[in-house]
Amino acid sequence: MSAGSGSGESLVAQLLRWVDSGARAHAPYSHHPVFAALRLVGITGELLPPVFGCNIENASYVGCCAERTALANAMTVAGADARLLEVAVLTPAPSGAPCGTCRQAIHERSSDVTVAFRWDGSWVRCPGGCGTAGLRQQAGGTMGR
Ligand SMILES: [Zn+2]
Repeated sequence: MSAGSGSGESLVAQLLRWVDSGARAHAPYSHHPVFAALRLVGITGELLPPVFGCNIENASYVGCCAERTALANAMTVAGADARLLEVAVLTPAPSGAPCGTCRQAIHERSSDVTVAFRWDGSWVRCPGGCGTAGLRQQAGGTMGR
């Protein structure tokens, strides 16, 4: 599921290790902590260390998902020219696929990125990736027509 890394450890394994090491989300309203990891390649082609993020909620209910928090961290650490290769999302909810806003943000960073999310103990690839085809597929083929 992973493109690999300099350490040889999959992105999923790195995400799980980060969460197990005490990573915290701020989810006082949903009580659903979500964590995301990104794999990126730098401008000179080097594989960068994984970048992580968690969901951050607030009383306005306009919080930030783990995927977009990780993207913001990636932009801060690696710069806007880093290429996104892979996304892994750990979520407690059965409907834990990235939301439309996150899919759009991921898609705008890379149209061929691999996105995997976990719920109920198994890792699943985002259907059709994060582009409009994936959204159509997840919506039963009715979106965008
Ligand atoms: Zn989202």
